[in-house]
Amino acid sequence: MTRPTVLITGASTGIGATYADRFARRGHDLVLVARDTARLEALAAQLAAEAGVAVDILTADLTREADIAAVEARLRDDAKIEILINNAGAGLGGSFVDQSAEAVRGNVALNTTAVVRLAHAIAPRLVAAGTGSIVNLGSVVGLAPEFGMSVYGATKAFVLFLSQGLALELGPKGVYVQAVLPAATGTELWGRAGMVGADLSGMMDVNELVDAALVGFDRREGVTIPTLHEGELWDAFDDARKAMVPRFAQLLRADRYAAA
Ligand code: NAP
Repeated sequence: MTRPTVLITGASTGIGATYADRFARRGHDLVLVARDTARLEALAAQLAAEAGVAVDILTADLTREADIAAVEARLRDDAKIEILINNAGAGLGGSFVDQSAEAVRGNVALNTTAVVRLAHAIAPRLVAAGTGSIVNLGSVVGLAPEFGMSVYGATKAFVLFLSQGLALELGPKGVYVQAVLPAATGTELWGRAGMVGADLSGMMDVNELVDAALVGFDRREGVTIPTLHEGELWDAFDDARKAMVPRFAQLLRADRYAAA
């Protein structure tokens, strides 16, 4: 049986490159997407030689219209691709008032717009086929405004909500959607975001992170938080949210909003 092809964004290094390694070893052909062609070519050659799979590369800056349109077209047209790993993303250093408008725009474009556009490009084909998977890389920062990364965290809250919504919409049609929420993981992300003082030795190893995320993937878990040892805390949090849902729509205001 031929295994489906996996398209991975942000595959030139870090979490994306590790996903590429793992899916190659599982026997999947790959399409690797990032901006750095030389790194993509080197990884593609290595994985093709070691795992004997076919690896295509697609050089793209996902914040540029022409580039993301080309990736969307590949996802729409290449019927062999049945797994999308929506991994490309970037941190954003500094405080809100110090971040430039251009840096904020670029971070939101990469971490949210690109994620939803690529999911949107592949979803109709997967639904028609009644199979396939979309994996979106969020972050625990999206659950923790206390960390002081307001824009980055907001983009990751978007990724979580999008994933949960798509899981409800697409799941009954045979498409699995997973949100993976890493905590601090030892990759280039920290240096790229200008957080050069970050101590990578205190962070989860990227291999450990991706292997745990793939355990969640194989179990068809909706939300995977590899560093959270007490899984029941997430369940309690999600149960509290679900308990509110049927209570939101009311004709009358809550007592606490009675005018004085
Ligand atoms: P990383 O090591 O910095 O890798 C980011 C990847 O995205 C690279 O392959 C990079 O390749 C690509 N990329 C960056 N900007 C791009 C653009 N404009 N267009 C296309 N590709 C682009 O980061 P990582 O730690 O592996 O992060 C992967 C995902 O996990 C991100 O969504 C991140 O937010 C999330 N995450 C990471 C951590 C952490 O602590 N590391 C924690 C929580 C969540 P090129 O430079 O070649 O384009």
